[in-house]
Amino acid sequence: MTEVKFCSYFKNFILCGEIDFHCMLCQESFFYLDNVDKHLKWEKHRSLLKKQAYDERYKRDFLYKIRDDFYCEACNELTTEPKKHRQCSSHVAAKSVSKRPKFETMNYPIRRRSDGTVFIGDVRVTALEWHGNYGIDTDQYICFGCNEVIKKSDAQNHCKTKTHVDKMLACNVMTDYEEKPEFIRLIRPNLYHCAVCDLILPYWDNVREHISGLSHGARRRVSILPCNEASILRSMHGPTLDSNNSFKIHLKRLGLN
Ligand SMILES: [Zn+2]
Ligand SMILES: [Zn+2]
Ligand SMILES: [Zn+2]
Ligand SMILES: [Zn+2]
Repeated sequence: MTEVKFCSYFKNFILCGEIDFHCMLCQESFFYLDNVDKHLKWEKHRSLLKKQAYDERYKRDFLYKIRDDFYCEACNELTTEPKKHRQCSSHVAAKSVSKRPKFETMNYPIRRRSDGTVFIGDVRVTALEWHGNYGIDTDQYICFGCNEVIKKSDAQNHCKTKTHVDKMLACNVMTDYEEKPEFIRLIRPNLYHCAVCDLILPYWDNVREHISGLSHGARRRVSILPCNEASILRSMHGPTLDSNNSFKIHLKRLGLN
């Protein structure tokens, strides 16, 4: 077996999202890479790391068995279907790269400020919006990634759970739309969510049309304003969700009802 040098985060069982990280050994989530670096030095993490060994059956594919999942060190991905995973072309490509660049968030168009606010290029979103959590009434949120209704008070913790991070990692934000980042996520094949407008869009054609539309443009401009001005404008134009938008309507939009 040729010696493969994986990124140290991958080797350390850290699932790396765009700006979200999860240690699968300690089952802890992190919002900043600095905190991940500190975490990797912790005794508890290091001792768990020492105990890990490739699954004998999938050694050549760099797969570990972790609880109910298999973790692929080459792809930095969890899978429940190791046989299928080892055959997919992205895996074959990933495991044959002999030296990969260090994972870093520098020069990435998505950044999280120390107060939790996220910038996608010039578009500013709150920590919860970044995580796909939107209020459906005064004390409930819906998480688009998990397709789950959560209590407002649980929203912060929900964003740190493994299932959530896992789902989040699967829906990347489009950062390269005509060289201008847009806060639009692919939730499932042919299902997109525009986080600026909180709108579900089926099919890519609708997304293109939506981006070039007036209302998206206006909302996008509001979200690049400094915090105060934006909240004043938002209160003038009402919340992004209108008040009769109930949970049922959300489910319908998601095609689940
Ligand atoms: Zn850890
Ligand atoms: Zn893989
Ligand atoms: Zn979630
Ligand atoms: Zn939009």
